[in-house]
Amino acid sequence: MILTITGYSTALFSTWYFVEELRLLLDAGDGIAPTLLQKSRKIDHIFLSHADRDHVTGLLRLNELNARDGFPAVYYPTDAGSISALETFSKQFDERVKKTVWHPLGDQQQVQLRKDLFVQSARNNHVVKAQLHEVKSLGYQIYQTKNKLKSDFVDLSGEALRQLAETLGRESLTDEVRTNLLAYSGDTPAENFDQWNNTQILIHEATFLTRAELATLETNRNQHSTLEEVLAAVADLNIQTLILGHFSSRYSEEEIDEAIRRFCTAFHVTIPVHRLLPGQTHWDILRSDPIN
Ligand SMILES: [Zn+2]
Repeated sequence: MILTITGYSTALFSTWYFVEELRLLLDAGDGIAPTLLQKSRKIDHIFLSHADRDHVTGLLRLNELNARDGFPAVYYPTDAGSISALETFSKQFDERVKKTVWHPLGDQQQVQLRKDLFVQSARNNHVVKAQLHEVKSLGYQIYQTKNKLKSDFVDLSGEALRQLAETLGRESLTDEVRTNLLAYSGDTPAENFDQWNNTQILIHEATFLTRAELATLETNRNQHSTLEEVLAAVADLNIQTLILGHFSSRYSEEEIDEAIRRFCTAFHVTIPVHRLLPGQTHWDILRSDPIN
């Protein structure tokens, strides 16, 4: 299955990614509803990475248009206090939004979206002032599960399997196989890349282009990744496709693409790499031409 992912992601202004087949939205920056129009009604589950305004302010319009009993379900880092304030405000601001449900999530929590699909949260260190026990910023991993016949039984006939299922129970004939369909870093410093290993599609932030640039910035601001760090780390991971977003609007399209090609060459990254350019909505990203 090739996922249909549409998104907009520019540091400071807005970030959101819509995964159509999974009826899922990752972050909810400005512009979702006016961009997706009627398609925004397909969103059942919204996973917010953190409370920075460029990741949440699209929710007001989206929810007001699409609220129905129990949906959309909004998931957010449990210690992101201004997101629970936004829940309270939005439910008072628009009566219809009372129907939406909001779920705080801690680290490594699982949310079942469908029988064969779940999302797992992963705390990161984007928010500098978060204490160790606080969860103010999350990335997400989306898994698909399938039951596969155990190797002991693959040579048996249908009838023999049916009888075994009756005596042993159907579950004992199969193993659960997990596929990491998609991972989303949220805003994060370049850290813990091992957690994204073996994922089919990684959406990672790359706010700045080089480590040298990052080193010149104030260190008390929330932490971000550089393109250089992400591509260096991805070179050692088993990933099928990389989508880069959250670039600073200080960079031109040419600067971003040149840097992606330069670092892909330097680190021997050979997988397809897509990028979301500042100020642009990218439709159906995986069916567009990769930059690498
Ligand atoms: Zn951001």
